[in-house]
Amino acid sequence: MAHDSFGFEIQARVDDGPRAGGHLGRAGVIRTPHGLIKTPAFIPVGTKATVKSLLPETVEDLGAQAILANAYHLYLQPGPEIIDEAGGLGKFMNWQGPTFTDSGGFQVLSLGVGFKKVIAMDSDLWQADDVIADKKERLAHVDDDGVTFKSHLDGSMHRFTPEVSMQVQHQIGADIIFAFDECTTLHNTKRYQEKALERTRLWAIRCLDEHQRLTSERLASPYQALYGVIQGAQYEELRRKASKDLAEMTSTGISFDGFGIGGALDKSRLATILRWVNEELPEDKPRHLLGIGEPTDLFAAIEEGADTFDCVAPSREARTSAVYSRTGRFNVSNGPYRKDFSPIDKDCSCYTCKNHSRAYLNHLFRGKEILASTLATIHNVHFIVTLVEEIRKSIIDGTFIQLKEEFLRNYKSKSTS
Ligand SMILES: [Zn+2]
Repeated sequence: MAHDSFGFEIQARVDDGPRAGGHLGRAGVIRTPHGLIKTPAFIPVGTKATVKSLLPETVEDLGAQAILANAYHLYLQPGPEIIDEAGGLGKFMNWQGPTFTDSGGFQVLSLGVGFKKVIAMDSDLWQADDVIADKKERLAHVDDDGVTFKSHLDGSMHRFTPEVSMQVQHQIGADIIFAFDECTTLHNTKRYQEKALERTRLWAIRCLDEHQRLTSERLASPYQALYGVIQGAQYEELRRKASKDLAEMTSTGISFDGFGIGGALDKSRLATILRWVNEELPEDKPRHLLGIGEPTDLFAAIEEGADTFDCVAPSREARTSAVYSRTGRFNVSNGPYRKDFSPIDKDCSCYTCKNHSRAYLNHLFRGKEILASTLATIHNVHFIVTLVEEIRKSIIDGTFIQLKEEFLRNYKSKSTS
């Protein structure tokens, strides 16, 4: 459904540059009821309606345009009805800008089943469907109607269906919400992937229907855009099919406002997989890459046509003292930085780099001071947000490929952990 308060406009393409090479990347603007998102954009994760250790005001000062919270976590605590009563996610946490929620599909399966890092897995060591099928570990059960899962907080049993996910996400009230999908792993068999993909397709139709019903029932609330989620793991045929299916899907007179690219992504093939998907998706709708945000992955993702990304890595890694710089990631709590009075990154304009040294951060981390997390998170989130801003400018200027080559050369050359 075309809607006045939501839209997407492309402003420039990677191909506009002097070294055009058939790339799918673009710069654009997403319009939401709570403001604009200039893309490509990195969307910091505020899982439980907070970007851990940062004031909402600070997140804004860092240049973040939107935040992404999680429907599963907010459903369990504090409960979506409380956020609804508060006036929605943005009001509840005092964040003025656009918001996203992901559907909870990933969490009900990953937290329930107990496997980790489903998105962006590097290994191909596991096999078959045992990860999900092993009854001993199974805390989540998928059937054609939905997922029954055990709360990771208190062990209570819950059930998410496409309808429940839509209801929860409407109560939370983010500007951009995602269809409920079955998130598989790289280790599932192809037969299972096919089955899961068909289930996700049927769930997508139910999400459209329920979304339409809720939208017309809650007319006083700001319009929420619904993104369909593309699964299909590492299989070209499945990724292309999912993209076509969801791109063409209409039900009760509406279609998806944009698309999320999710599920098992072999990071070494990120660009290839995105290309399959984005060759099939309509050009004029925004695409969100779920769970990717490492600096080196961003260039590949943007080059192949992803518009927005979320990832917990910059903030999660910050809390373990892993910080980013133009020459690579390093651990500021390591010995060599005890007497290093330079900033984390001399070219960074964040609050932390303007005011504090590596030696001070090293001291805070070693002393387990709360401020360590705050200062490191400020730097990492700022680093990624501004890097993506710079990438956006380079697409508009036609210098994307040069920026990418220069960044990757420097970043890789000295990357340490
Ligand atoms: Zn900094």
